[in-house]
Amino acid sequence: MNGKMKAIVKHHRGYGAELQMVDIPQIKEDEVLIKVKATSICGTDVHIYTWDEWSESRVNPPYVFGHEFAGEIVEVGSKVSNVAMGDQVSAETHIVCYECPQCLTGDYHICKNTKIIGVDTHGCFAEYVALPAVNVWKNPKDMPYDVASVQEPMGNAVHTVLAGDVAGKTVAVIGCGPIGIMAVGVAKAAGASQVIAVDLNEYRLDLATKMGATTVINAKENNPVDLVMELTDGNGVDVICEMSGHPIAMNQGFKMVTNGGRVSILSLPVRPVELDITNDIVFKGVTVQGITGRKMYTTWQQVSRLLKSGQVDVKPMITHHFPLEDFEKGFDLMISGQCGKVVLQP
Ligand SMILES: [Zn+2]
Ligand SMILES: [Zn+2]
Repeated sequence: MNGKMKAIVKHHRGYGAELQMVDIPQIKEDEVLIKVKATSICGTDVHIYTWDEWSESRVNPPYVFGHEFAGEIVEVGSKVSNVAMGDQVSAETHIVCYECPQCLTGDYHICKNTKIIGVDTHGCFAEYVALPAVNVWKNPKDMPYDVASVQEPMGNAVHTVLAGDVAGKTVAVIGCGPIGIMAVGVAKAAGASQVIAVDLNEYRLDLATKMGATTVINAKENNPVDLVMELTDGNGVDVICEMSGHPIAMNQGFKMVTNGGRVSILSLPVRPVELDITNDIVFKGVTVQGITGRKMYTTWQQVSRLLKSGQVDVKPMITHHFPLEDFEKGFDLMISGQCGKVVLQP
């Protein structure tokens, strides 16, 4: 397709971004062109927008950023057979090599040569996005576009929570950004007996309650370790989903996990974190897991089914919608923390 489109361009190596008219991307024979109907702002996008240390080291402006979306296929490459014109789709955002030792054994989510859409390639904060057809995930026709656009981050929540047993167990989610809040809903749906949400932000703790948290703890007002011990008869929780990346909160997580428990870490602390490995991991026999991306495509199947069955309802967590042009309002809200998921509509 030829012509111009509106896009949010990370235009320079500094704060902010710009709405620009750019060329509609041309597809290759194994790609599809998607008309973007809804695209949600991720924490990663906020890092790129505010231009922190990580973006400085990873991102190369000028380019179109954004990676979470839902839309409709409007053009199909000659070699594409898995999807067709008019399909409603979202996409797995890891573009993997299919050749490294991890890919060859089916562990695509930890591919050594992963490229991330909207970080290493042009993204979806635009009217159109071109993507490899193999990355595209077909959505049910009746799934609202805003709901479909959050499947990718919901996949992070699902991958973290379901990385071990949950049914009948006690779970604490530390850090209640959008993925943490969704993790609460997933843990509840998976049959956790208690889901305890910990954060410093009242707005987000309210959202955690709406998503099914049995107890919320504001760590500014209470010692979360003491409270969790009270709630679990002094045993601690079976599962920690670490979504905060904050060194103090992380250490609290390791104190509140029970002997033989699991700590699944999705967060990305900006600096190395000091932990009491002897007392909090080794003597307690704790399993620590790093969680990255979504299993391709087990996690997508789980997300799809949890949404379709209504076991997880993400609507309370999608708090704001703006036209693409008003992206600055969306980013300001994300930076303030007074929101759940913010969705932009091109
Ligand atoms: Zn994301
Ligand atoms: Zn690979």
